[in-house]
Amino acid sequence: MTTTTDLLSRLTDATAGSAREGTDLDAVDGLRPRWVVSPADTEGVAAVLRTAHDEGLAVVPTGSGTKLGWGAPPQRLDILLQLGRLDALVDHAAGDLVAVVGAGRRLDDLQGDLSSAGQWLAVDPARRGTVGGLVATADTGPTRLVHGPVRDLVIGATVVRADGVVAHAGGRVVKNVAGYDLSKLLTGSFGTLGVLTQVAVRLHPVPEASRWVVVTVPSAQHARELVQGVVHSQLVMTGCELERPAGGVAQLAVRIDGIAAAVPARADAAVEMLGGGAEQLAQAPSWWGCDPGEDGDVRLKVTHEIASVDRLLAAVDDVSQQTGVPLDVRGSVGVGTVSVALRGRPDEAAVVAVVDGLRRRSPEVGGTVVVRDADPATRRRLDVWGPVGGLDLMRRVKDRLDPGRVLAPGRFVGGI
Ligand SMILES: Cc1cc2nc3c(=O)[nH]c(=O)nc-3n(C[C@H](O)[C@H](O)[C@H](O)COP(=O)(O)OP(=O)(O)OC[C@H]3O[C@@H](n4cnc5c(N)ncnc54)[C@H](O)[C@@H]3O)c2cc1C
Repeated sequence: MTTTTDLLSRLTDATAGSAREGTDLDAVDGLRPRWVVSPADTEGVAAVLRTAHDEGLAVVPTGSGTKLGWGAPPQRLDILLQLGRLDALVDHAAGDLVAVVGAGRRLDDLQGDLSSAGQWLAVDPARRGTVGGLVATADTGPTRLVHGPVRDLVIGATVVRADGVVAHAGGRVVKNVAGYDLSKLLTGSFGTLGVLTQVAVRLHPVPEASRWVVVTVPSAQHARELVQGVVHSQLVMTGCELERPAGGVAQLAVRIDGIAAAVPARADAAVEMLGGGAEQLAQAPSWWGCDPGEDGDVRLKVTHEIASVDRLLAAVDDVSQQTGVPLDVRGSVGVGTVSVALRGRPDEAAVVAVVDGLRRRSPEVGGTVVVRDADPATRRRLDVWGPVGGLDLMRRVKDRLDPGRVLAPGRFVGGI
């Protein structure tokens, strides 16, 4: 039998000395890991996963830890696998608009690296984190409207499988991307299918100029008409966002990016299209791209058909009234994903009532309700993910890639 001391020494060897016993400060969703390891390279990650696989240990990968509270709490945790040391900018092929980056590189550091070439990774998630964490959570913000979801920006990856085997997926140049791709499968997999150690991403030029056009929206019906109007127009926008604080007045904002000579005229066209007091801003409104509510508030990710913004807002109003919980709505109505914050620190029963209420209304808005930010006890009690199609297929994928349930067991949909 492998003793605790043997295991620690195996993990220490695997990580060239960067293994230690876990403490309460390392806890994930209340689970204290037995060990915390910080390998320096893909081989180190592979050695850690081989050990975990051999010994039946559960591993949770982490970048900078900003989204470790998303998804269902893992059922077991033996090793917290920190990827922050894999933070190299491996390659920036500016001419190809491609970068290859260690999964542990912070997104803001990467954007800094790319800015000297006038380029960026076109995501603006509300939270700061690492590139690996971004891909694993598929977290995006307003620019998804024009640049697409995270999976469209990932063109390749180095992935360590749960058994410690290293796999390379996809390519480094955009034209090589074709067919089934492990890197795409891992996008949004919350650390349950493999550990990303290196990611190749497609880049975009930083726009020369930007303007925001903001308008007050008097009713849910008006919000629907405006959103329908702008998304079906010829006006190319980089984002279409709605802000509606609980009990407050709603605003819709669009962002116009482009060359300096063209942006003012396009912003004028947006003002005309939005009508009724729309105004141009040189800076983003304060709420643009940020989550609603405050730190510690329960937040839900709610998806909806773009044409159902009015039904979504009506459902939020009804559920707020029935439960007595004020609900802020903010997010990317132009792509059908908003964040709903539960204000006033409601108790657990009220949180459950809000989630159930919104899920009952989901069919009429054509979307889903996922619990994002909530304390571990609440996330244990609720079904964080809610009903989801294709579960059998997802289970088969998990069984194939991680039959021993080494990686974040229980974190994903249906207990995957
Ligand atoms: C076990 C497993 C199996 C997978 N199988 C496939 C597959 O067969 N084909 C494929 O293309 N991709 C698969 N994926 C990858 C993942 O679903 C995709 O990368 C997904 O398309 C990412 O979606 P998104 O960018 O829109 O992210 P988001 O919409 O931000 O979603 C983030 C994650 O939450 C998940 N999710 C789970 N339940 C819900 C819910 N109720 N509402 C909204 N989102 C939910 C999504 O699937 C996604 O993984 C699988 C992932 C896992 C973990």
